[in-house]
This record gives sequence, C-alpha cells and structure tokens, in this order.
Amino acid sequence: MGAVRKYWDPEGTTYGLPTWPWKWAPSHLRTRDQLVAMGLRPHQPIAAQVMWDSKRGVRRAYLYDVALAGPPKRRSAGQVASLEAARRKRRTCPTCGREREYYLSTALKECTTCADGLAAAA
Ligand SMILES: [Zn+2]
Repeated sequence: MGAVRKYWDPEGTTYGLPTWPWKWAPSHLRTRDQLVAMGLRPHQPIAAQVMWDSKRGVRRAYLYDVALAGPPKRRSAGQVASLEAARRKRRTCPTCGREREYYLSTALKECTTCADGLAAAA
C-alpha cells in the first residue's frame, strides 16, 4: 500500500508529470509498447508516467494518451524510391559497375571481386 501512495501523483506536483503507481494509471494512458501492440504510435509528447520500485531502484515508464495516438507515419512513394536508390548505390561497385547482392564494404569502396583483383578474371 505504501508504494501505491508513494507514486500517486495525478497532478504531477511531486514528479513533474502526472504519475501513478504501476498498474494504477487511467486506461486511456498507455505505454509506447502498448500502443505499438495496438498498431498505433504516439504522435504527441509524453502525457504521464507510471513509477514503481524494483530491485534495481525506481523504475518508470512513460505514458501517452491513446486518443492522440495514431497509425505509424507512412513513407511517401518518393521516400521509398529514394531509399531504394540509396540502397542500390551502396550495392553497386564503382569499379566494375555491377550491382551486387551485398552492400559494399565502406573500407574497400568496391565489390569483393574487384578488391581481390579478380575483376579481369571474372
Ligand atoms: Zn566490382
């Protein structure tokens, strides 16, 4: 009971954020993981927190208002295309011009075939 009282601070006067003991927060406030499990993402700042004592000290989890959460932000077609172009660039060897199955090593800056001096033989 002591722990419940200790972290009972819905006004946030003690902890700076509206705070409840673990499992006591209002049901419209969810952790990020809970939102993700619902297919949502927080699109707003932290609304509140839950706090509890553990063997490793005081633990907290931030809470978001489920009414202000929404689906994950979708990437536009343009963003998807530019990401794909960037990936292709990282796979394409500037020495032989071939697109490889793997990302080129940033140290070698060319495909392993060229780096091994095998381009002429390949
Ligand atoms: Zn190459």
